[in-house]
Amino acid sequence: MTTTVAHSASPAAQAAGHFDVLIVGAGISGIDAAYYLQRECPGRTFTLLETQTDFGGTWRTHKYPGIRSDSDLYTFGYKWKPWTGAPIASAEQILKYLNEVLDDHDIRRHIRYQHEVRDAVWSSQDKRWTLTVRRRDTGQVLTFTCDFLWMCQGYYRHEKPYTPEWTGMKRFTGKIVHPQAWPEGLDYRGKRVIVIGSGATAATIVPALGKDAAHVTMLQRSPTFFFARPNRNDLADSLRELDLPEEWVHEIVRRRILLDGQRLTERSFNDPEGLRKDLIDGARAQLGDDYDVDKHFNPRYRPWQQRLALIPDGDMFKAIREGKASVVTDQIDTFTEKGILLKSGEELEADIIVTATGFDLAPLGDIRFTIDGKPLNFADCWAWRGLMFSGVPNMAWVFGYFRSSWTLRADMIAEFVCRLFKHMDERGAKMVVPQPRQQDEGMPALPFITPDNFNPGYITRNIAIMPRQSDRQPWIFNQDFYTERNEMPAADLEDGSLRYG
Ligand SMILES: Cc1cc2nc3c(=O)[nH]c(=O)nc-3n(C[C@H](O)[C@H](O)[C@H](O)COP(=O)(O)OP(=O)(O)OC[C@H]3O[C@@H](n4cnc5c(N)ncnc54)[C@H](O)[C@@H]3O)c2cc1C
Repeated sequence: MTTTVAHSASPAAQAAGHFDVLIVGAGISGIDAAYYLQRECPGRTFTLLETQTDFGGTWRTHKYPGIRSDSDLYTFGYKWKPWTGAPIASAEQILKYLNEVLDDHDIRRHIRYQHEVRDAVWSSQDKRWTLTVRRRDTGQVLTFTCDFLWMCQGYYRHEKPYTPEWTGMKRFTGKIVHPQAWPEGLDYRGKRVIVIGSGATAATIVPALGKDAAHVTMLQRSPTFFFARPNRNDLADSLRELDLPEEWVHEIVRRRILLDGQRLTERSFNDPEGLRKDLIDGARAQLGDDYDVDKHFNPRYRPWQQRLALIPDGDMFKAIREGKASVVTDQIDTFTEKGILLKSGEELEADIIVTATGFDLAPLGDIRFTIDGKPLNFADCWAWRGLMFSGVPNMAWVFGYFRSSWTLRADMIAEFVCRLFKHMDERGAKMVVPQPRQQDEGMPALPFITPDNFNPGYITRNIAIMPRQSDRQPWIFNQDFYTERNEMPAADLEDGSLRYG
């Protein structure tokens, strides 16, 4: 657990040190990993390597108007740090929360910014990883070594948004912008704006732009479920009246939200049509009986097959009611000089077109992995409880929930990894690698996420690059917090699916 100087991976690379654990990414997951390591395994040395110039990941790189969470911060915030604000938070508020964590737990000094991890090479002989890292500021190439790699890289490429190619895009004389690459100072006041897409980003950006734009049109190929809620939590407000410690308020409100979430998830499977009706009725109550809710707000998929978009204080519905925004459900035929020609023959005119079309999946930070001289293709691996991979030693991977808050799983994985470290120490093991057991021979290979369970575009477009799962534990990744919160802490570390060395 000491820090020693490592050898270079190539003549040009400069050795930068050895750590027990290297964490890739200083977003909400990487900071969580660092917190747990310090608390649960204080003897271990660690460093966070981060491409960006500052912490926060998603909440730092996204700068479009209105940027906010779409799940509540009682569950998107950490289990161990109370959230004291309104449930839905702006990026700025989330960064402030993370900044407090860095200060309170002295994590800041462990982060190396502008350090982009390019290659990760495992040697079974040395039982360690060698990482090649490029410094974005100086161009220097460094090598770090570590015993264990904790991947907290998020799930999409921060620098390259996903924009489909539409015919005629070059003809459009206005501006085309992607929310992920929002130009600083873009002046949309008094302009006609089309937002393509109707996911959580569109739901945020439409009312935010609607305040100052001439008009905003949300153009969707197919509808999304939206539901409005006041941006406050009555239970939290009542508990605060009793002058309870914030830790209690956080825990009680979290439990309430998690129980409500569990019931909603169960209902989405047991009574999908009843839930659909409630969601559609909710939209109708916001928009009035004359509004064609069925056309614009009744998706083809089952509720929860894609994320439900929460509209805090009903702001998007309000923008529609007030005529500042409207929804068009149609398909793009071609871009024109003036805007977009739809398959229906209608032409929408615009000064600015915002492509809120989602992400480019990058589940492993675009790092090239090599195991004992062989390039690794993650699609050939079995995912061990969706957090380690068969044949990949000493690595944990954080991939959070989509239906529930991402961080619930980041916390759970962090607890698990620290338990695994303690177990390895007790065993005197320096290496752990998942491998199918004899009884797993011939198990069926299933896609990482089953499309009838959860099927957003960015996953289905890229399912071929994701690892496989199967029909039995520990090879299932079910994206269900309510199952995993019981199973994960009880996961048997000696069931034969983990080989130690
Ligand atoms: C606009 C938006 C709103 C969202 N709202 C919610 C929400 O309300 N609730 C929810 O549950 N989820 C939400 N999500 C999903 C969200 O991304 C995650 O919940 C969460 O922020 C992910 O945190 P993370 O730390 O795992 O990843 P990220 O925030 O993506 O951070 C990963 C970090 O790793 C760094 N990194 C990646 N690769 C490398 C590399 N090779 N070398 C060095 N550093 C690297 C990146 O630069 C980045 O800083 C939202 C996503 C977006 C885009």
